Amino acid sequence: MKDLLKTYVQSIQSKLWEMSDYLYHHPELGDQEYNSMKLLVEFLEEHDFTVETGIVGRPTAFKAVYDSKKPGPTIAYLSEYDALPGIGHGCGHNMIGTMGAGAGVLLSKVLDEIGGRVVVLGTPAEETNGAKVPMAEQGIFEDIDAAMILHPSDESYESGESLAMDAIQFDFRGKSSHAAASPEKGINALDTAIQLFNGINALRQHVTSDVRIHGIIKEGGLAANIVPDKAVAQFYVRAKDRNNLNEVVEKVKNIAKGAALMTGAQIYIDNYELSYDNMVTNQTLSNLFTNNLLSTGIAEIKKSKESYGSIDMGNVSHVVPAIHPYIGLDSPGLTAHTQEFADTTITENSHNILAKGALALAQTGYDLITNKEVFEKMKEEFYEKVNA
Ligand SMILES: [Zn+2]
Ligand SMILES: [Zn+2]
Repeated sequence: MKDLLKTYVQSIQSKLWEMSDYLYHHPELGDQEYNSMKLLVEFLEEHDFTVETGIVGRPTAFKAVYDSKKPGPTIAYLSEYDALPGIGHGCGHNMIGTMGAGAGVLLSKVLDEIGGRVVVLGTPAEETNGAKVPMAEQGIFEDIDAAMILHPSDESYESGESLAMDAIQFDFRGKSSHAAASPEKGINALDTAIQLFNGINALRQHVTSDVRIHGIIKEGGLAANIVPDKAVAQFYVRAKDRNNLNEVVEKVKNIAKGAALMTGAQIYIDNYELSYDNMVTNQTLSNLFTNNLLSTGIAEIKKSKESYGSIDMGNVSHVVPAIHPYIGLDSPGLTAHTQEFADTTITENSHNILAKGALALAQTGYDLITNKEVFEKMKEEFYEKVNA
């Protein structure tokens, strides 16, 4: 039965290539991926999926379900299809979207025999305002047993870790005045922001080595002869796990309050973008996927790479067993977020890799549904790691 998936992939692979190429030629930015969503949704509907669009209040998000109406696990594949300004699909989300939808369709072809459900989730705006965050928050994964997403890269890597991240804005309000004639009447908001930077730089010695704190001054006054009455600083603060991150963020906020106390400015603190949690890879699920990917003929899969970025799949991995591996485009050193990367996603070789990725995802879903032992092991690992 599992071998049937290999046969089915041959019948849909030219459609998968066509869709990935179409997305490459028609890139759309996050939360504006209307045509990209439509393309994937129509493909899924042709294959008897029931689709709901605009979930969690995001117009370009969707949930597509194929239900065998027989008992069994629910497997989810996540599709991204947002592009980058100027360089289109320089992160290869045209391949992610197509591999996710393709895997869903493949698995659906054997589902009536083996039972269970398959869900394809369209998750917009990964590069900017990840829709997986509200999806994880609003219970989209409550009836899902495992969630998988596959990202293209220079080479293949197992699913690994990513940093938890908060995006914090500090808005300082002082009092303007003539900077030379009556400086004593002013309260300098820019000086307050500079003290925040100085305080954070002193904090760096006393954080764990995984912590990353990086910021800018967005607004810092209008003219040198006016005491700046407004200064806005934005920071990303990241750490390997949420507890450590929360402690560091608390310290950063206290520095900001201290800076405001020094100058007498008012301070308003906000999260200016969604917070991402660290990625917790389910190793049982990861091993299962790695073996399936090897079986499709991908020669080498490296151990996960050390990552200091943050991904919205992290939030998903805290509510359901999840993986976020990378599939190699046979181009060692190829860098994401470049035109070269985008161009590489539509070569003949990448077409073959795309079909292999969709197949390996489908095979992993098949294994979870038919192998109760490995399914239970995955669940146990999840409860130990995440609910501990
Ligand atoms: Zn990217
Ligand atoms: Zn990406």
